[in-house]
Amino acid sequence: MDYKPKRLKAKDYVDGVLSGNRTLLSKAITLVESKLEEDQNLAKEVMASIMPYSGNSVRIGVTGIPGVGKSTFIENFGKNIVEEGHRLAVLTIDPSSDKSSGSILGDKTRMESLSKLPEVYVRPSPSSFFAGGVGEKTREAIFLCEAAGYDVIIVETVGVGQAEALVRQMVDFFLLLLLPGSGDQLQGIKKGIIEFADGLVITKADGDNLIKSKIALQEFKQVVNLLSNRDKGWRPPVKICSSVTKKGLNEIWGMILDYEKNRKINGAWEETRKDQQVYWVKEQTRVLIEKRFFNNPWIKKNIEKYMPLLINGNVLPSEVAEKLLEDFVVYLKKQS
Ligand code: GDP
Repeated sequence: MDYKPKRLKAKDYVDGVLSGNRTLLSKAITLVESKLEEDQNLAKEVMASIMPYSGNSVRIGVTGIPGVGKSTFIENFGKNIVEEGHRLAVLTIDPSSDKSSGSILGDKTRMESLSKLPEVYVRPSPSSFFAGGVGEKTREAIFLCEAAGYDVIIVETVGVGQAEALVRQMVDFFLLLLLPGSGDQLQGIKKGIIEFADGLVITKADGDNLIKSKIALQEFKQVVNLLSNRDKGWRPPVKICSSVTKKGLNEIWGMILDYEKNRKINGAWEETRKDQQVYWVKEQTRVLIEKRFFNNPWIKKNIEKYMPLLINGNVLPSEVAEKLLEDFVVYLKKQS
């Protein structure tokens, strides 16, 4: 097809986002996620204009293994928040949408009634955006949603990969959902994730699960006591809830508001956001260096020559990498 849609200008995106137009917000996020150079240049322009309007929200990361009840939780928890007069954006990191667009539809049906509310915006992003440190794009999506007037942002991840460490660096409150099972086994969750959770919630505390979830509550309180040594007076609370009976959902929102109040009084809220900015400067620097390194003509020409060292010389990959880097530095010195 040679049909080409009319290209929007930076001002079209900016005006659209600032006026809360959801179609243009979606288009702006797509633009930011695009890998095309011309899109990236336009995206930079858009981001520079909307940045002054970003920042005014509570950013919540929600994670947990598949099946723990994340989307059901977000759907019901989200409705409560909206009833209190907030506008909610949900950004989901969707590993299955990397291959086809099919699951994007799937995700929409996951939070169907929530996404139909006029105060709510739901957006799935493929998890490939996290590969190679480009979680920055989700961060930019947060800023765009804030500029569009959403004052609560939920970023949902599946709780098993490296995405959580990056999401931790872009949210104010990191909520870990757990099944009403034993705390001993940590349910396949990396210990590290518990260490950086700001709150833990045992899901599905209803029916036959109610007793199990109360036991899990006690167990996870102990796990938190052992694992967590959080600074600035916040010990991550452990709560139970049911998205079916809706019990506990308000308490979780209350916990997040408490956290916000507590952190704002002692300055930790802004401090953490500043630390996150520093983190992303370093992360982006790393990404840029890596890209330029592998695109360098000398590296492109010579990198393969180093590989036989591995096979012939019983040399460790790290040593090969060091040798490559040393020779590259020598080459650069000769150039200057
Ligand atoms: P996700 O994969 O973490 O997003 O989990 P889902 O929200 O899709 O939920 C997985 C399954 O658990 C579904 O069959 C839900 O109906 C069920 N579920 C979710 N929340 C609850 C709950 O609070 N109570 C009960 N009994 N079932 C739930």
